[in-house]
Amino acid sequence: MLNWGRRTKSKHEKKKKFHWQLIVVLIAVAIGLAKAWQIGSVWIDARNAIREASATEEPAEDFRPDVGDPPYTVAVDAGHGGDDPGATGLIVERDMTAATSEALLSWLRSDSNYIPVTTRDSYDVTATPTERAKRSNSQHPDLLLSIHGNAASTEASGFECYPITPGRTWHRESVYFARLLASGMEAAGSNLRGQQGIRYIYYENGVKVLAEANDLRIREEETFTLLEESRCPAVLAEQCFVTSAEDVDRFGDQDGCQLAARVYYEAICAYFGTQPIVSLEE
Ligand SMILES: [Zn+2]
Repeated sequence: MLNWGRRTKSKHEKKKKFHWQLIVVLIAVAIGLAKAWQIGSVWIDARNAIREASATEEPAEDFRPDVGDPPYTVAVDAGHGGDDPGATGLIVERDMTAATSEALLSWLRSDSNYIPVTTRDSYDVTATPTERAKRSNSQHPDLLLSIHGNAASTEASGFECYPITPGRTWHRESVYFARLLASGMEAAGSNLRGQQGIRYIYYENGVKVLAEANDLRIREEETFTLLEESRCPAVLAEQCFVTSAEDVDRFGDQDGCQLAARVYYEAICAYFGTQPIVSLEE
């Protein structure tokens, strides 16, 4: 009875010991896996930090584009038109871009320093970005501005613009123009999104990916087709959110489009170093 009892106790002890050994092994394996994962993630963090640090060398602040002599040909691209309304909110993006483009063209037509050209025959014409880029390039512009409106389901608001991306021809000139546009819009009352209103867009497998202005990594992924195919410095501006009442009030209604157009005109004059005119020719 005693022996049997002892034997039983011993079996229990063996089982207990085995359980403890298993638990210790499992803990050791878990710690090992956790460490390996931690080292892996630290390494990835480090790689990202190094990449970011190496890519944050901004184009020199004293950079000025080599613009030559006037007159300068400026392509104005109304971002949407015809059967393509763009975003719809409190206003329709197509209407806003048409009104702003027309007002900007009026300023440029009145200023003898400029030859304004367009990327579509009329605002009623539907034209793809490739067609508009072709049309722009065929007129050999010195600068291209594409006018758009933003939209969001949230209460987002403000201005942002997208220059030609790092590594491409005309990147520095495009950033230079983008800075002028953004600082003008800020001074006119817009809040700037991202880093001082300048961002890059890339399409990764058809998905739009946003990069901030200090991310100067050279990527294979393409940005907006119009910018990618432009043969001159180019910026795509998101004037305001068509979904924001405050934004529409400032830069989306008739007066707002006039104001934005004047800001764009001022930025164009600053880019080329010309004196802006003060009133439109009758
Ligand atoms: Zn648009």
